[in-house]
Amino acid sequence: MSAQTLNQLTIKQARDGLAKKEFSAQELFLACLKEIENKDGGVHAFLETFEYPTSHYVPSTNHSSLVGIPIAIKDNILINGRKVSAASRVLENYTASYDATVVKKLIDAGALFLGRTNMDEFAMGSSTENSAYGPSRNPHDVSRVPGGSSGGSAAAVAANFCIAALGSDTGGSIRQPAALCGVVGFKPSYGAVSRNGLIAMASSLDVIGPITKTVEDAKILFDAIRGRDPLDSTTIDFKIQDSRFRIQGLRIGLPKEYFGAGLDPTIKKLVLAAVKKFEELGAQIKEISLPFSEYALAAYYIIMPAEVSANLARFDGIRYGASAANNPQFATNNLYDVYAKTRAHGFGAEVKRRVMLGTYILSAGYYDAYYLKAQKVRRLIREDFQKAFEDVDLIVGPTTPTTAFHFGEKTNDPLTMYLEDIYTVAANLAGIPALSIPCGSVKTDSGIAMPAGLHIMGRFEEDDIVLGAGMALEQTLR
Ligand code: GLN
Repeated sequence: MSAQTLNQLTIKQARDGLAKKEFSAQELFLACLKEIENKDGGVHAFLETFEYPTSHYVPSTNHSSLVGIPIAIKDNILINGRKVSAASRVLENYTASYDATVVKKLIDAGALFLGRTNMDEFAMGSSTENSAYGPSRNPHDVSRVPGGSSGGSAAAVAANFCIAALGSDTGGSIRQPAALCGVVGFKPSYGAVSRNGLIAMASSLDVIGPITKTVEDAKILFDAIRGRDPLDSTTIDFKIQDSRFRIQGLRIGLPKEYFGAGLDPTIKKLVLAAVKKFEELGAQIKEISLPFSEYALAAYYIIMPAEVSANLARFDGIRYGASAANNPQFATNNLYDVYAKTRAHGFGAEVKRRVMLGTYILSAGYYDAYYLKAQKVRRLIREDFQKAFEDVDLIVGPTTPTTAFHFGEKTNDPLTMYLEDIYTVAANLAGIPALSIPCGSVKTDSGIAMPAGLHIMGRFEEDDIVLGAGMALEQTLR
């Protein structure tokens, strides 16, 4: 194996190569850093890269699944002693004072951290254009967005800057950028992975998950970070499903609501071709209906900003990060000035929009009309899925309605940007596991083929079945 290609390896291949001593962990790490140095200027996947550690923990036995594997970490996940900014000005020079549980678990598994990846500020967005530090670009066509909010992580995996990455998903932020960059993204069941040490966006929706080159890798990374955590009371230890997985006899539902107008016809064709493969592998395909899915986006854009406004109240210039009080540019005469000027200067437009929206939604006069109503709709959406999952084992459709769009195309109209999440948000509202895997590409006007994603959702706690189906399909698509 030549040294230049080490950065292209999957976790599985890198692990095998390291075990056989074909190369060292340092060579692998440096191959990634070199690729970043050569090519990240045009992509901007990373906000910061780290050096190869002078010493690192090597677990002696059993859970040694990630020894020496360089992993990129989304900039909203805390690594003790490192900067963490959530791509916001308000946390520009903030240093994490502890490790997120996922980071601790990765260290325990022997993984190495390559750097912090770019994202939409506080994970709000679908294009990474909302980063305070400038957008990331899609490695397939740098005139297009990589998706978001985990756009840096998805671009880093697609460009082979790292072996794998972590992202976070509140309404699609792992799956949508994975689809747009042609890589695998997995949003676990709510509570399968600890949120301790994840900078919160909307706590009832947020999940950390893997962005990888293969579904097999997503499973390896997910297994390393999953599990109950006393520091996050919403976590549960899920039963790990049988690994002798068969597609044969599995019932797959295609929601008719997901294939209507608004879906790019070429993506539709690619998704249906992948469904055909499932059928050839012995699955039974059924048309189903999720009647409340048309309200998913509306419910999400009420519940999410409500939680955002509460979670972001802590960035007040007193407790964390940047403060107008220490900035000679601002004249702060009283405490209110410190709050107001810190937030006015520290937050970008999209964050402010959502904080204002959320504050309004939660106000005494409107709480019942908006927040309470949206919670009721959320329950109906969850029941939609429960009903559907009585007849089918998996629900399959497109991850996104279109392939990657151009910079600026949707920034002037937030509503068109929000439509990017139309197929992904329901899984967060229902808390169920969902996977995006590459299913082909669509030729754009400029002749460049842009990737499309297939979306597979499963029952709550059946993460392993979703991943198992993805692995089986992946073998036929490659
Ligand atoms: N794009 C969605 C939003 O802007 C989802 C974000 C996310 O999952 N973090 O809210």
